[in-house]
Amino acid sequence: MKLKKRLIISFLIIIIVPMLLAFLLFLGITRAQKDQEASQRRALYFANSLSLLQNNTSNEIEILKKWAEKNPQNFQKESLIRKMNESLQEKHSFLIQREGLKILFDGSQDEVRPSFTELPEYGRLRDGETLVETVGDVPVTIQQVDYGYGNGKRGSVFVFTTANRLLPEGQKILFDYLASALLILLFTAAVLISWLYGGIMPKIRKMQKAAEEIEKGKLDHVIDVKGSDELTDLARAMERMRKRLSADAIQKLEAEDAQRQLISNIAHDLKTPLTSITGYSEGILDGIANTPEKQEKYVRTIHSKAKEMNALLNELSIYSKIDTDRIPYNFVPLDVGEFFQSCNEEVGMDLANQDIGLSYYNELPKGCAVIADPEQLTRVIHNIVGNAVKYKKPEGNLSISMRLRDAGDYVQVEIEDNGQGISKEDLPHIFDRLYRGDKSRTTKIKGSGIGLSIVKKIISDHGGQIWATSKLGEGSVFYFVLRKYSEPENTGEQA
Ligand code: ADP
Repeated sequence: MKLKKRLIISFLIIIIVPMLLAFLLFLGITRAQKDQEASQRRALYFANSLSLLQNNTSNEIEILKKWAEKNPQNFQKESLIRKMNESLQEKHSFLIQREGLKILFDGSQDEVRPSFTELPEYGRLRDGETLVETVGDVPVTIQQVDYGYGNGKRGSVFVFTTANRLLPEGQKILFDYLASALLILLFTAAVLISWLYGGIMPKIRKMQKAAEEIEKGKLDHVIDVKGSDELTDLARAMERMRKRLSADAIQKLEAEDAQRQLISNIAHDLKTPLTSITGYSEGILDGIANTPEKQEKYVRTIHSKAKEMNALLNELSIYSKIDTDRIPYNFVPLDVGEFFQSCNEEVGMDLANQDIGLSYYNELPKGCAVIADPEQLTRVIHNIVGNAVKYKKPEGNLSISMRLRDAGDYVQVEIEDNGQGISKEDLPHIFDRLYRGDKSRTTKIKGSGIGLSIVKKIISDHGGQIWATSKLGEGSVFYFVLRKYSEPENTGEQA
């Protein structure tokens, strides 16, 4: 559930639940009251404390009034008067009966003992009237019922209610209500807090733990949070971040590993020609090459080994530049036919020395041009042809063919060999940086795995594309395309 929705629900619950509970509680309290009058009395308390004091004894007043109207003899029965007083006492009240100047019954207690003179005279308080007085220091209400026997003899009954006893009772009710309201609020708040807490905290805790793990560098701690709220979105974003960091860390480790591998390969590849150079130069210095022919052979070998080292170092330097996009290009319009013709002648001579046949086909129209850097394009050809030589079959003759085809807006170059071929598993990766085919790694064929990645980078920097097809044991074909270039037509008039 969305956090926003959760907060809106909480807000509604805060308002509705206490109201509902308060209503139920009120109903419960009033129903539970066996004494209907008491319940009414409690309710009335909040409206008017004086009416509460009056209602407190209304039953007894009614009975006394009935006696006065219909049965005044009852006032002469002391047992009835005493009973009435007992009933009043339960309600913090008592009764005083006066006939003429005589007090017939005095139900007053020690703390409230009104003197005879404090009693209102006959007929002073009418029906429903209540006098509020203090007797001693005690506030009291006085109600009066007058009666007569018909023979001129008459009397009054005074009902005293001590307010200071009844009021605390009312205060207690008020306190009960307030305490209930407080409890309801506390209950609602507790339910809400636990609901909100339960929905939010576990997720926050999980994220906190995950953040601590990431801080420690442990990137394999999966942040597994389910739901559809904002915190879950945040947790998912954190999980994506963790995965990304983890992938980057793995990539970094792989790159470092590859770098180490490269250094070790290069060191190894440099060592072999260097050993030859040292050996042959020592042969000259020691006089082992004692004929001009021998000396020339030694010097040629030293020269070719030095070139080998140079090529290797060049590759390394290009590799470091490729990483930072610092290959120096010198783009010029190039006649494709002319360029590949001379390239073919140069490479062909080299290959002929190694008894490798090179065939060349040009199916392009004359004058077909591309924008390219001849030096880098030569590097591409040398690299692909060099690989064909490197990965030739141990037995049998190697033959290489170079074809130029017309592919609409593009010139397509194909270089095919009948060498070892590349396995299906290796083929998708041969243009990756530092990737060496399975076989190349296990055989003694030297290499760093950067040649084809440089080739790919050069072709893509020319706006072209490169790919290869191959069959293991039969040979490979490398293809690349470059966009054709046509000179802007010169429409200017000759002066
Ligand atoms: P290197 O030759 O230094 O290993 P490259 O990037 O030039 O690195 O080539 C990558 C891999 O592609 C080689 O290790 C090899 O397995 C495979 N490969 C490239 N060219 C050929 C080819 N003509 N015939 C067979 N395998 C090849």
